[in-house]
Amino acid sequence: MITPEIVQEIRQIVGQDYALDSALDLFGYSYDSSFLALFPPSLPELVVRPRTTEEVAQVMKIAYANSIPVTARGAASGRTGGSVPLRGGIVMCLERMTSVIELDEKNMMITVEAGVRTGDIYNLCAQKGLFYPPDPASFKISTIGGNIAEDAGGMRAVKYGVTHNFVMGLEVVLADGRVIKTGGKSIKNVTGYNLTQLFVGSEGTLGIVTKAVLRLLPMPKHRTTLLLMFESLDGACSTIHQMLQAGVVPAAAELMDGKCLVAIARNRPFEYPAAAQACIITEVDGAEQADILKQAEVIEKIAADNGVLEVRTAKSAQEADELWGVRRALSPAVGALAPDRVSEDISVPRNEFPEIVRRISAIAGKYKLNFAVYGHAGDGNLHPSILCDLSDPRQAEVVHKAVDEIFAETLKLGGTLSGEHGIGITKQNYLKNALGEDGVAVLKAIKMALDPKGILNPGKVWAEEGKIHG
Ligand SMILES: Cc1cc2nc3c(=O)[nH]c(=O)nc-3n(C[C@H](O)[C@H](O)[C@H](O)COP(=O)(O)OP(=O)(O)OC[C@H]3O[C@@H](n4cnc5c(N)ncnc54)[C@H](O)[C@@H]3O)c2cc1C
Repeated sequence: MITPEIVQEIRQIVGQDYALDSALDLFGYSYDSSFLALFPPSLPELVVRPRTTEEVAQVMKIAYANSIPVTARGAASGRTGGSVPLRGGIVMCLERMTSVIELDEKNMMITVEAGVRTGDIYNLCAQKGLFYPPDPASFKISTIGGNIAEDAGGMRAVKYGVTHNFVMGLEVVLADGRVIKTGGKSIKNVTGYNLTQLFVGSEGTLGIVTKAVLRLLPMPKHRTTLLLMFESLDGACSTIHQMLQAGVVPAAAELMDGKCLVAIARNRPFEYPAAAQACIITEVDGAEQADILKQAEVIEKIAADNGVLEVRTAKSAQEADELWGVRRALSPAVGALAPDRVSEDISVPRNEFPEIVRRISAIAGKYKLNFAVYGHAGDGNLHPSILCDLSDPRQAEVVHKAVDEIFAETLKLGGTLSGEHGIGITKQNYLKNALGEDGVAVLKAIKMALDPKGILNPGKVWAEEGKIHG
């Protein structure tokens, strides 16, 4: 319970305008971009928008002393309900912490505050010939703090890895308001446990990230982007699998099925062969143009053996951007195909990718459900989306059965519940199946050590019976 005195105290720390409690503001900060429809909505009691680490720390001290839940929030583009304040309390939104503290060209590292947008980091580095590869499709809006908390992936993960591969160090405010620094600019660092990576992917449950040191690469000199249309989904999946086997390491290899093509064409000028049932957008990059052209040739040859109908090669950076624009606009376009959409984020070992796509198609057939399948196929991360109407109780029942089966098949193939969106609220029921009782117990022990009162993002990652403990 946040008393008027506590609100007043917090306003003195962050300023009158940055601790919001109007009904409209509370509603505005109550949801994210997940497919959850919480009714009634889960409202915070107060929205705090700090500008500095010191402000975050002081507010945390008050929250800790009064056992007030605190849910960190970046841009709320998360897909699993992570920034939804499930137990009320404070939403701590880092959107005003947007300073770039240092772009260290000599060490190829950048230090930023948590509210800096991912796309801004990319653009700033690109101006200096440096490259920050992680590129979630949401990168124009998502914050680096949110990316770190979810260990966000993106299109380029296949060659360059995901967010955790680039986080060198962090500044974190702990549940009780203490501030720690982890890691740093040294490439080698074995000083105690790897606390930096403990906070990466912790979904705001262990601490609030206020600053990050990120590793950069030289910007690749050359790139070629290809769009390939296939007569079958299987042919597209096999092409990706075979090109990886042939030693081609694309920067990105994105798959979309026939439903996705329909969805895109409804939203923007986009032509494709009538017989097309799938499409790949792929990019190869590197230092030598000749090498890239060779890789593109290998891809085209493998595609030809797998029933490719059309190959489009971007002839300029602008054309490449247009092709990637198609992919970035995909998620909302697919969402517009039906009243509701249940979208998952499974990930399997790369060699199992064609098989999981087959199994998902079989599940769709079994339950007569309308599915769209797309994802970062080059790294085995897939977003099957069930297009449905959950107001129909019969559909709601079969959708949940289908989701259960998708997760079961994913785990059987050695895969995981989430490649990049985290567990949040939406996947809690499946956590034990993936990690086992003992695995979940270890997560809880870590949580208890860092947040004994359970005030940081309570109700996330695993289902809690009680409310705040302590
Ligand atoms: C159209 C669309 C496309 C997307 N594509 C991708 C994709 O390709 N790859 C991908 O990985 N994701 C993707 N996402 C999901 C989402 O953008 C990512 O999860 C992103 O990392 C969330 O960042 P955010 O700033 O919006 O965080 P939020 O949604 O605000 O928060 C996400 C989680 O992080 C925690 N958090 C936020 N900031 C902090 C902080 N400073 N310290 C501690 N915890 C914090 C929150 O409590 C919450 O648990 C997509 C989303 C959309 C809407």
